[in-house]
Amino acid sequence: MQIHPLAAFADNYIWTLHDGQRALVVDPGEAAGVQGWLMQHGLVLDTILITHHHADHTGGVAALREASGARVIGPTVEPMPEPLQRVDHGDTVEVMGLSFQVIKVPGHTAGHIAYFLPALDGAPLLFCGDTLFSGGCGRLFEGTPAHMHASLARLAALPDDTRVCCTHEYTLSNLRFALAVEPMNADLQRHRAHCEALRERNLPTLPSSIGLEKKINPFLRSREDAVRQAAHARDPLAATDEVGVFATLREWKNVFR
Ligand code: ZN
Ligand code: FE
Repeated sequence: MQIHPLAAFADNYIWTLHDGQRALVVDPGEAAGVQGWLMQHGLVLDTILITHHHADHTGGVAALREASGARVIGPTVEPMPEPLQRVDHGDTVEVMGLSFQVIKVPGHTAGHIAYFLPALDGAPLLFCGDTLFSGGCGRLFEGTPAHMHASLARLAALPDDTRVCCTHEYTLSNLRFALAVEPMNADLQRHRAHCEALRERNLPTLPSSIGLEKKINPFLRSREDAVRQAAHARDPLAATDEVGVFATLREWKNVFR
């Protein structure tokens, strides 16, 4: 199995997986780039996985389905380009001989789901859409801080070596914010230097890993003293429990430039 992100729009990634014959794509916001890639590698599109309803994740679904007859799998609750197979938390999805576990991760949208593969060539794999980004998390369009905090905790509980396939290249701007929260975090400083070098060569900073995100992502670190203190300094009146700290971080990030 080969895993590869296709760049789309300004900063989206459409993640692909193929076995040399059949392919799986995740969140195809547009069809043309995917079709070109399938053609180039002589692949047949087998399955489309969707994490949530936003157009930059679903815009290419209808055209790809029409061209290939691929099966489409997406969340319950959310408005989706029909027809599709709807899956929910705890379901297992069989794709090209692989068994993905469906994890519900509401917050960015109300019905957002992630797809987790416990083992592929030695390490787990996670397609998490716009819930977890490297160094950040999705905006709360349809959920509360408590929803998103619980969703991120669910993802943080996955094995440390889980490869995290996020759908946007937001890493450098996320790390700039993360360093405003935790300027003394050495892992964060190191990771930023690493990602800057990757971006200078126009390479993706992804996949990340759960183990790394737990060290550098402030949105997974609202229990850490340094993060709690930074949130308190930012908003001394905000709640100081984990969700309160998370909510302060999210609001701060919304206006961070
Ligand atoms: Zn989105
Ligand atoms: Fe998106």
